[in-house]
Amino acid sequence: MRESRVRKTKTVCTYCGVGCSFDIWTKDRKILKVEPQMEAPANQISTCVKGKFGWDFVNSSERLVKPLIRKGDAFYPVEWGEALDYVAERLSDIRGEYGPDAIGYISSSKCTNEENYLMQKFARSVMGTNNIDNCSRYCQSPATYALRQTMGYGGDSGSIEDIAAADLVFIIGANPAESHPVLSTRIRQAHKRDDQKLIVADLRKNDMAERADQWLQPKPGTDLVWIAAVTKVLIDRGWYDSTFVAERVRHFEEYRASLQRYTLDYAEEVTGISKEQLIRVAEMIRDANRMCLLWAMGVTQHMGGSDTSTAICNLSLITGQVGRLGTGVYPLRGHNNVQGAGDFGCAPDVLPGYASVFDEKVRAEYEQAWNVKLPDRRGLDNHQMVERIHEGRLKAMYLKGEEIALVDSNANHVGKALEKLDFFVVQDVFFSKTAQYADVVLPACPSLEKEGTFTNTERRVQRLYKVLEPLGESKPDWQILMGLANRLGADWNYQHPGEILAEAVSLTELMAGITYSRLEGYDSLQWPVSDDGVDTPLLYADRFAFDDGKARLVPVDWTPPLQLPEEYDLHLNNGRMLEHFHEGNLTYRVKGLREKVPDTYVEVSGSLAEERGIRTGSRVRLVSPYGAVNVSVVVTDDVKGKELYMPMNTSKAEEAVNFLTSSHHDQHTHTPAYKEIAVRMEVL
Ligand code: SF4
Repeated sequence: MRESRVRKTKTVCTYCGVGCSFDIWTKDRKILKVEPQMEAPANQISTCVKGKFGWDFVNSSERLVKPLIRKGDAFYPVEWGEALDYVAERLSDIRGEYGPDAIGYISSSKCTNEENYLMQKFARSVMGTNNIDNCSRYCQSPATYALRQTMGYGGDSGSIEDIAAADLVFIIGANPAESHPVLSTRIRQAHKRDDQKLIVADLRKNDMAERADQWLQPKPGTDLVWIAAVTKVLIDRGWYDSTFVAERVRHFEEYRASLQRYTLDYAEEVTGISKEQLIRVAEMIRDANRMCLLWAMGVTQHMGGSDTSTAICNLSLITGQVGRLGTGVYPLRGHNNVQGAGDFGCAPDVLPGYASVFDEKVRAEYEQAWNVKLPDRRGLDNHQMVERIHEGRLKAMYLKGEEIALVDSNANHVGKALEKLDFFVVQDVFFSKTAQYADVVLPACPSLEKEGTFTNTERRVQRLYKVLEPLGESKPDWQILMGLANRLGADWNYQHPGEILAEAVSLTELMAGITYSRLEGYDSLQWPVSDDGVDTPLLYADRFAFDDGKARLVPVDWTPPLQLPEEYDLHLNNGRMLEHFHEGNLTYRVKGLREKVPDTYVEVSGSLAEERGIRTGSRVRLVSPYGAVNVSVVVTDDVKGKELYMPMNTSKAEEAVNFLTSSHHDQHTHTPAYKEIAVRMEVL
């Protein structure tokens, strides 16, 4: 028998976009401890509770360890060969009958860059469609859209280090204390130690709002109005950076004219924020030498999410608060690799490195490298796939590592769509709620059981090493995809993820110099990376990423939030919680974390609780036009009046907040308007 020994292996956390790196100490399959390394540039201080204690799910008896095929209402374990033959045959038949665009592919922001690259290569080169997307569609696509049209690249403009070094941190619609804990700790330290100023705009009195020098509490869905009003004050009073604007920005006059209606009076009336507070905010921006603007789903998950993100970029440009150390724009990525999934081409309109699928020259390069003819039609995004299933035009779906049945909005609508599919493959670590709709379920490995790279919110590419062997017959996603692709006529022969990365970066200027040897251990690189391995922690120091090197101010207008009938009298806000990750399939299987927060809940203000005769622990039924959930109450002063808050994480699928949310979405990117929902509350 082989003697077991204690091993120490470096990995990267999968629980948020900060991308903390640390060593995991193991003996056989037992995780002994997680040891943060201070040299890891993303974290530097430590890890949060999920990073430290959130890994025992890897040994859960509920792990998928064999492929499953549905027969009637039941699933039966089969060998890998049988499962992959069956999937290849069914996908091939459906493509033959309905064409390549009758199948959709959803990749995963929890998977590695290499696996995301292969997923889009599979969809495009093997199956012949651009119907490929990932979960950034549910969160930060509007921010990426805004950044690309104003500055050129879709990623954070600087580094976490810059946020810690800023004079003023301005957080809009984000709650990093729970969503990006280590990042928030660095802000808190700078706030205390260096007298860094902090402004927070959020409906809810979250931990950062409580510490802020100014806490703005706008009415739901009105962020664009107060941002535009503050920007107008800065311009009207000459408090903007006229030199920066003259030298580095285009369309200033047109943009200035577009702000005309965003007066302080108008903003006060629409947003509920007083004129005095808006002027105070403008003064703090005027006085800051280095400002960082951070935002997340409180901004993006609205019908006007892209426009509000654009308004934030405009504010950053007119104040010249980008392209210098300690400044910049930071849409905080939720998943650990949501940045990488997009960077490596899991989107319906771009190939790796954000090269357009409509660009003939780019397509020709990929066609030569992959030896295929590539589709030139725009593919479907996640939202469109669901609608096309309902229309009977999308017949099959291949989904990797995404709990779409709970995390897409309007879950009842999504569930009905999944029921209609002729063929559905789910590749995951656990038998998820989504897997219940599948025809084939393929057992994949979590991050601790594979090698690869992740890209965190600051464009930093980092390596993870295999901590444990795959459990049972589960396989890394890249191996599953290779097995399937070869059954469908491909000739892939990757022996290691490093070969996949080498191929991917050889095709993209953006990441040309990234190699495994340059990412050894705790080394990392922030894209763009040139051939000689020089990376770019700070974007836009000399020029913006357009041909003329100048940024664009883009006029935008406010889209009022969705109005529902009066009977839905309570606004329901939603977001993440510190102790659990996303829908909860992983962290609710970790005993310590589950004991800490066993279930989801709804936060209710003291005044509403008194009015409805409820208290902490009461059970209520929340009803929206799209569904209903029963949930326990927590009475708190974190929310006020008729505002409710529910975490998106849940241990019971039937309590998921997305049974309440709608299919309304951002007009430019189709990101669901998760934050625009009203409900009525019935006491049980
Ligand atoms: Fe770091 Fe985020 Fe993981 Fe916490 S969840 S350890 S902050 S990467």
